[in-house]
Amino acid sequence: MIKGFLGTTIIDYPGKIASIIFVSGCNFFCPFCYNKSLVIADHIKTQPDISENTILDELLKRKGFIDGIVITGGEALLWPELRDFLSIVKKRTNLLIKLDTNGSLPEKLKSFIDDALLDYIAMDIKTGFSKYSRLCSIKNIDKKIQESMQIIRSSGLPFEWRTTVVPPLFKISDIKEITPFLSSEDVYYFQKMAVIEEEIIDPSILEGLEDVSFTELKTMLKPILKKNVKVSYRGFD
Ligand code: SF4
Repeated sequence: MIKGFLGTTIIDYPGKIASIIFVSGCNFFCPFCYNKSLVIADHIKTQPDISENTILDELLKRKGFIDGIVITGGEALLWPELRDFLSIVKKRTNLLIKLDTNGSLPEKLKSFIDDALLDYIAMDIKTGFSKYSRLCSIKNIDKKIQESMQIIRSSGLPFEWRTTVVPPLFKISDIKEITPFLSSEDVYYFQKMAVIEEEIIDPSILEGLEDVSFTELKTMLKPILKKNVKVSYRGFD
C-alpha cells in the first residue's frame, strides 16, 4: 500500500528529476533501517493510505516537469498491486520508473523487467551473503540475492548496487564475499548510515557504533576498487 509521496527529488534517480512513492511492508528487518513507519506493522497502521488515483493525479500534474518516478519502501515488490499500478503509470504518463529493492524476490523482479515496467534498478547489498540470514527468515536468501544481482546485470537496464555502511554488517570479510559477484561495468554506491534515532528499527545498534571515516572506507574497499568497479560515495564528504 502506498503510504508516502514526495513530488520532486533531484537526488534519488541519477540524472533525472523524479517523484518518490513510498510503499509499506518489508520482508527484512535491518537493524539500521530508519523506515519504521514503512516496516513495522504497528507503525504502518498509523500512516494513512494514499490511493493510486491520488498518486496518478499528482504525477499527471507534474508531467513535463519530472522525468520519472522512484518506487521505494519497505520492499515495494511485495505490494500485490504494484504491477497494475506501474502498468497504469507507464500507460498514462510514460514516465521512467526506478525501483529500489532489497533483492529478495528475484522471480518477481525478473517478471517486472520482462514486462518492461522498469527503467532503472537500485539494489541494496546489505552485507556479506553469509550474514543475510540475520536480516530475515527467507530460505536461501543468500542465493536469492545473488540471483537478483545476475538478473539485474543481464537485464540491459541501468542499475546500481548500494550499501549502507554499518560496521557490524560491513566488514572486510563481507567485502571479500561480495567482490567476486561484481564486475567492472557495475556502479556501486556506498552510503553513510543516517542516524534518525526516533525512526531507527533497532536503536541498540547505535550503542558503541563507530563511525567509519572516508579514508577507512576506501581502505576497506580495496578489493572492490581493484576490480575497477565504478564506486561512488553518498554522505562521506
Ligand atoms: S532497510 Fe530496507 S530492506 Fe531493510 S528493513 Fe528497512 S526497508 Fe526493509
